[in-house]
Amino acid sequence: MATSDVSVISRVEEYIDQQASLDVLRFITCGSVDDGKSTLIGRMLYEAQLIFEDQVATLKNDSRKMGTQGREIDYALLVDGLVAEREQGITIDVAYRFFATDHRKFIVADTPGHEQYTRNMVTGASTADVAVILVDATSGVLTQTRRHSFIVSLLGIKHVVLAVNKMDLVDYDRAIFDKTVEDYRTFAENLSFESITEIPLSALQGDNIIERSAHTNWYSGPTLLGFLETVEVGQSELNHPFRFPVQWVNRPSADFRGYSGTVVAGIVEKGQQVRVLPSGEVARVEDIILFTNHLDQAVADQAVTITLDHEVDISRGDVLVAADNPCEVSDQFEVSLVWMDKEPGYIGRNYWLVSGTSRVNATFSDIKYKYNINTLEQLSSKSLELNDIAEVTLSLDKGIPFESYSDSKGMGSFVLIDRYSHATVSAGMVNFALRRAQNVHGQAFVVDKAARTKLSGHPGMVIWFTGLSGSGKSTIANSLEQELHNRGIRTYILDGDNVRHGLNNDLGFTDADRIENIRRIGEVSKLMVDAGIVVMTSFISPFRSERDMARTLLEPGEFVEVHVDVPLEAAEQRDPKGLYKKARRGELPNFTGIDSDYEIPEAPDLHIRTDLLSVDDCVTQVMTCVEESELWQQDR
Ligand code: ADP
Repeated sequence: MATSDVSVISRVEEYIDQQASLDVLRFITCGSVDDGKSTLIGRMLYEAQLIFEDQVATLKNDSRKMGTQGREIDYALLVDGLVAEREQGITIDVAYRFFATDHRKFIVADTPGHEQYTRNMVTGASTADVAVILVDATSGVLTQTRRHSFIVSLLGIKHVVLAVNKMDLVDYDRAIFDKTVEDYRTFAENLSFESITEIPLSALQGDNIIERSAHTNWYSGPTLLGFLETVEVGQSELNHPFRFPVQWVNRPSADFRGYSGTVVAGIVEKGQQVRVLPSGEVARVEDIILFTNHLDQAVADQAVTITLDHEVDISRGDVLVAADNPCEVSDQFEVSLVWMDKEPGYIGRNYWLVSGTSRVNATFSDIKYKYNINTLEQLSSKSLELNDIAEVTLSLDKGIPFESYSDSKGMGSFVLIDRYSHATVSAGMVNFALRRAQNVHGQAFVVDKAARTKLSGHPGMVIWFTGLSGSGKSTIANSLEQELHNRGIRTYILDGDNVRHGLNNDLGFTDADRIENIRRIGEVSKLMVDAGIVVMTSFISPFRSERDMARTLLEPGEFVEVHVDVPLEAAEQRDPKGLYKKARRGELPNFTGIDSDYEIPEAPDLHIRTDLLSVDDCVTQVMTCVEESELWQQDR
């Protein structure tokens, strides 16, 4: 081997060693469209001289082809990723870029500025230590700047750089810089940052990125990279008590049972006592396995398989924690969240909450307030719109182990998923568990549902009629009740008259109110079923998600969904209450079928077409459906 080769290799090795010993700073850049974010990142990568020669060559070609910066290199093209995105002129996902200087390694999350991509920004910010908030000196602090800053603050990022870009376009005017800084400081006063570092720069010209700019003699603070190289960020999750959400139970054969997952906080050692949450059982760690290696300990961020000294009932979503320092388990929380879906979020609506490895049903029990993003004023609201940031109370259908987000990012963050579209509709952070969740315990009474069923000789159940107004829900419920009553079955009908005028007289017909209406009816039905009654509900109940929520309140078999179906024209022709005519005249806004949606049941227990069958035939069909149900058979 030639001497020069040896020296190259040893220099490469030296370089790799030096790089390995450097710490890593993760940061995110946030900006509005055209603030110059991609140019800034490209400039940092370029100046950190980690661009390979051939990439530079491509870049020069591309810059010329796109012609965005004349014959100059367009640094934005370095990071704008996919060609398709470049051609549209926008960046659409979170791209992570790596670079290093002599002092530090950097991972930068590059997220798009468009409002509709707030979700990407949340994702990028969730792992960052520092946020670089870009402001265009020619336009100053914008709503989007405030939104990004607020999200960054919610996500617990303590150090922020306000990068006032495009200073070249305002002749490096100090007054413009000072004004932007003042505006930002006034807004950020109410956010929980430990430091804000304002830097005047030009990503395009390279002012104050690495080198101090001769154009800003009035500025004495650090350059951007100078700041990023030296900023001290908090300790990682290493110093926290051990937390390990179980991702899957690894059972390749009868004599091996391991629990696989990633340590989200702390350290676990062989022989250590751990507690399984929510059950609370205690066991000792027998082995920690990484691929084929057996480790003495595992630390935060490591993905391992843990075995225990005796068999314990553990499933996915359970969390192994330090036995002497466990976390709480709760089913009601106050949380901060960002709404990220076009479809609004409503009080009473049900979503999947995914936190770590557990997935449970979650309902908004209350929207305490949402923020006016410009003033941080608290506004009351019954629904959440795209990009809203709000404080919300969530009720889960079972307790999960958790910590507040400020104590542990890994144990206190979650996303909400739409149960039908499977879209991520929200990302949130747990502030605290509600005390009442710990203090309200179900009282076990001696006379229970089974005893009541035995006494009356039939089980309680809900026959949930859903369909357009005038489809025949009330007519069928009425006949069916007579039939059941004659057979000695205890019944009750819940309909608009006894509910809208009483229990729900505070609710109107907006989507939010309709959801709450159905939620309360579901809860009342549940109590009546517990009392042993056959309840018939006669409400349009237009939304799939609320009907399903009512179903989840009840035991399997207790909820019989009957789709009372008729074509809209037929219902409108019947118009038994004259409501369609009113709606057509515009006197009844939000009328289902006219200017509000009816979501057709996908898998009802029974589907009847009332334009094709007589009332008696419909009643017979429902009767048969009930009598043939497993629940009815077993309890008779
Ligand atoms: P909803 O309760 O669904 O708003 P109603 O029961 O008040 O509807 O009105 C349904 C109308 O349709 C009544 O006038 C009823 O006589 C008529 N109708 C005709 N055929 C049927 C049927 N097979 N089942 C139920 N109602 C029917």
